[in-house]
Amino acid sequence: MSIQCAGIIGAGTMGNGIAQACAVAGISVVMTDINEAAVARGIATVSGSLDRLVKKEKMTAEQKAKAMALIKGSTQQADLRNCDIVIEAATENLELKLNILKNVETLLGPEVILASNTSSISITKMAAATGRPDKFIGMHFFNPVPMMALVELIRGLQTSDATHAKAEDLAKRLGKTPITVKNYPGFVVNRILCPMINEATLALAEGLATAEDIDAGMKLGCNHPIGPLALADMIGLDTLLAIMEVLYDGFNDSKYRPAPLLKEMVAAGYLGRKSGRGFYNYS
Ligand code: NAD
Repeated sequence: MSIQCAGIIGAGTMGNGIAQACAVAGISVVMTDINEAAVARGIATVSGSLDRLVKKEKMTAEQKAKAMALIKGSTQQADLRNCDIVIEAATENLELKLNILKNVETLLGPEVILASNTSSISITKMAAATGRPDKFIGMHFFNPVPMMALVELIRGLQTSDATHAKAEDLAKRLGKTPITVKNYPGFVVNRILCPMINEATLALAEGLATAEDIDAGMKLGCNHPIGPLALADMIGLDTLLAIMEVLYDGFNDSKYRPAPLLKEMVAAGYLGRKSGRGFYNYS
């Protein structure tokens, strides 16, 4: 049976984006978070985002109202009990995620699929901590979810074909293009993207070229829509460093060592756009 209701744990950047994508596709959503304020913020973000689509005439006010009516916010995980899939999109912390999963699965029927939107934590490890490892899968959405066409479906060693097929079907119903990836550090996109940004940081530190010229090189020479250093500032240098550390530890291979300049900048609090300063100045 296809998915009628999606539960989402975490109403932050990714959680509310996934909620929006599901509701616009006509799927009921229960979006939970730890406190009322976070749930309210998540729902307000979806509403604001749909308002912009209405303004741009990409959807009607009626379509917006219909989508909003499909989203229920809650602070109670028990409200997820009638969902066919639960997608965990809470803060990136292994212990926190394992606690959430262990708690929520006691509330769900045995057939319900559990998915995680983690960027860097092992799907195989999370699956093993649940009582339904074959029904566990990574659904790695990209930010901003309503705009980005990709979902990486991450198969843990235990993920069954049936679970993969259901997740693939859901991703397609959301209008996304799924790609299937084995559970390895960084999956596919971050495994390729982050070392490229790290290399751009090394090139900058070596004085090869200015940040502007490195970015112009990759934009004009490789047709990238944004240069690697400007992209680093968007992603957040702390997030980037964390992913490089996952790759470095996960493969035990020095080719993934984080650029010392990246570590320096994170230590200084130069995290990119969110802190007002990264490779570029935003103040
Ligand atoms: P965020 O900080 O915007 O949101 C996380 C939310 O989780 C917060 O609202 C927080 O209150 C909530 N939360 C924390 N503990 C909880 C609990 N016990 N129960 C319910 N909710 C809880 O973070 P985000 O950027 O949305 O990231 C969420 C997940 O998505 C992470 O695993 C991250 O790695 C992944 N991810 C993020 C991006 C991105 O670009 N931001 C992209 C892909 C994947």
